[in-house]
Parts: sequence; structure tokens; C-alpha cells
Amino acid sequence: MDSGGERLTASEIHTELASLQTAKAAIDERISTLESLLKNITTEDESETASSTPAAAETPLTGQLTADMIYRYSRHLLLPSFGVEAQSNLLNSSVLVIGAGGLGSPALLYLAACGFGRVGIVDHDVVELNNLHRQIIHTEAYIGRSKVESAAATCRAINSTVRIVEHKEAFRTSNALDIMKKYDIVVDATDNAPSRYMISDCCVVLGKPLISGAALGLEGQLTVYNYNGGPCYRCLFPTPPPTTACQRCADSGVLGVVPGIIGCLQALEAIKVAGAVGEPLSGRMLLLDALSARIRIVKIRGRSLQCEACGENAPMTEEQFRNFDYEKFTQSPLSTSPLKLDLLPEDARITSKEYYEKNIKGEAHVLIDVRPAHHYKIISLPNSLNIPLSSLEQRLSEISEALGRKEESASLYVVCRRGNDSQRAVQYLRGAGFNLAKDIIGGLESWAHDVDPKFPTY
Ligand SMILES: [Zn+2]
Repeated sequence: MDSGGERLTASEIHTELASLQTAKAAIDERISTLESLLKNITTEDESETASSTPAAAETPLTGQLTADMIYRYSRHLLLPSFGVEAQSNLLNSSVLVIGAGGLGSPALLYLAACGFGRVGIVDHDVVELNNLHRQIIHTEAYIGRSKVESAAATCRAINSTVRIVEHKEAFRTSNALDIMKKYDIVVDATDNAPSRYMISDCCVVLGKPLISGAALGLEGQLTVYNYNGGPCYRCLFPTPPPTTACQRCADSGVLGVVPGIIGCLQALEAIKVAGAVGEPLSGRMLLLDALSARIRIVKIRGRSLQCEACGENAPMTEEQFRNFDYEKFTQSPLSTSPLKLDLLPEDARITSKEYYEKNIKGEAHVLIDVRPAHHYKIISLPNSLNIPLSSLEQRLSEISEALGRKEESASLYVVCRRGNDSQRAVQYLRGAGFNLAKDIIGGLESWAHDVDPKFPTY
């Protein structure tokens, strides 16, 4: 704008600008106060009809932010695209986080800090030492204690104004509906296929938006399901992936910061949905590749009319949900306890103690460790030969040679981490003519448990 020939010094301009900005701030504040008052009046008028609306994210502002809240959340309030309105929306919203592990930890820290009215935490597990590199809400002091208690204590320490609700139980079809009904938004921070289907279906049945995250190894992904007519998990994955494709962190490893990033992004999406700001990641999926520092957003399939959960013709009912067998459907267990196979006859197996005794007596034998090479590098039994299960077929001659160097009656034992792959290996070896092959029941974990308590587990 033309200054109109006025001759002002820089310092005069600064002074006038400062005074105008102060006046503007006062006017803005008055405007937002009046808007809040107006909303309260509207809310009172409509309270009869509004009470049946389940989505608190859309419920008009009912409570004013207190002076402490204005100070605590001032950096939110100063954001023009967030401001008092979105902050008030958070205050009037509730979010349920299922899983207080690698994804749930960072998500919960931010959800509690950012000012949701109520935050629920579901988990039945206890804190373990090997959780702490990624489950950053827990501390060493809580090892052996409930993850829900630990996470709740941290959340309360960060923000005592948020109501933290503890659900110290496994999330199952029997309790899922009752728990989830009390919340507006759901964050899936679990790590297994049956839980993903169960949580998504429950969200469909109850009409809740679902913030879904996953992290494994050095990769992560994120999307928002069942939001504004967008797809649910089943729309995208009508049939479960083969069980071999469903890996867990306990088996495959995970770099701690990867679920950290995805968990933070889950908190961000929950804030956007609850605050009614921005564009939640619905109909799109974010893919993170930590090693190459690449983040991609891909468009995903829209809602499927044939979907068994949210489809037009036969949307899932509460009763159907309660009776659905998610473990059978996905062929994998809901609980985090590892799979225990039972493939072999009794005479094809020995316990770790029996193996120990035979070893002490000097029994001639060959011990094959069928774990992957990078597992073998962590720790192994003395005099074992590492032939990973995946290369067993190609390396049978090495076993024959090793046996050839022993007495004629030398035994052949197979070990792995937990005693599943060793059974698969023995099954294969017996089929390939190694009729005396036996597996060590329970693998190295049982060795550590029953024979050598100092033997490292991982
Ligand atoms: Zn669907």
C-alpha cells in the first residue's frame, strides 16, 4: 500500500505496528470469546438432540478451556489452522489405544500431552527388558509390571488434566465392543493379523474411525480406516495373508525408532480426526523405508461394496462380531506367546537336559543349528554347525560329511531358537534319509531355562 507521502521514521513505524498488533490481538481474543459463548448457547439449545450424537469430534464445544489449559496448549492455540476450536475438540474427544508397545508408547505420550479429554489404554502384557529400546513410555523401574499401569503412570505424570483409563486385559471379541463403545477414535497399536481384523471389524460395527499403524524391521506403514466413507481393513485385505507372511517383532526384529515414527504419526492422525483439522490419511497409505529414508504415500483401494464387514448388503452385526473366530480365520494366534509346533513323534525328539547329559557323557554326535546366520552370530552352543533351515536342502552333504567324521553310530541333533524350525528340519531330514535325526525340544530357550540360566536369550 502506498504510504501516501507520510514521512515516518523506522522507529515510528515499529511503534505503530506494535500498537496495532496489540489491538488486533485484543480484537481476535474478543472474537473467539464471543464465538465460544455463542457455541455454548447453541449447545444448550440443542442439548436434547445432541446427546444422541456419538462422535465427540463433531460435538459442539461444551466446555471452555481453563486458564491453565490456555497456557499449557498455547502453542496449539497460536496455530491459525488449529487454534481454540481444534483444541476444544480434543478436550471433548476420547481415544482408545490398543497396545502399549512400540507403536502405542509414542502415540500415548503425544495423545496425553496434546490434551485429549480421555485416553484409554488396553494391554494385558508386562514390561520386559527387551521392550525398552522401542517402548519408550516404560522405564526400567516397571520391568515385570503391567504395561497399562506403567503407560498410565507416565501419561498422568505428563498431563494430570487428561482422564487416563486403564484396561488391563487382552482385547478380545468378548470385551471389545464394551471397551470400544466408550471412545470416539481407535488407535490400533497391535502387531498381529487376528488383532488387526478384530479391531477393524469392531470399529466398523461401532462406526469408529481407526488409526492403523504397523512397523517391522526397518519399515513402517500408516493409514486411517473406516473414516468418512473410506475403506476398512477388510476392504483392502478380504482374505488373510499366509501365516508365513505375518511376522512379529519378536521373531524378525525391529529398529526401535521405526515404530517410534509410526506411533507419532498415529497420534498426529488421531489429533487431526478429533480436532477436525487437515486431511486425515484415509484412502491413502504412508509407507516408510527407514534405511533409504524414503516416505511414500500411495492411494489405496476405496471401500468395497462386497466387504464382509462394511459392505452395503451385509454389514457386520455386533452378534456376528462376537461369534467370529479371528484366530481360525487368520490361522494365527491372538496372544503374543510364540507359536508351538508339534510335528514329530516322541522318538524324534529329546529335551535340552537329555542333550546336555549326552554331551557330558561324550556321546558322538553332530549338532545342527538351523537358525538364520545373523541369529547364530548372537549366541550359539559350542561345536554346533550352522545350516539355516532355508538352505538345508542344498547343504545336506555337509551334514553327511560331519557325520562321516564321527563314529558310525553318531547321533544327529537339530536345534533352533524355540523348537519350531528344528522340528521342520528334522521332518525334512528324516525324509531325506537321516532317519536318526532328533530335535531339541524348545530350542535354545529351553537350554537357557533348563540347563544354563546364564545362556543369553533374545
Ligand atoms: Zn470394509
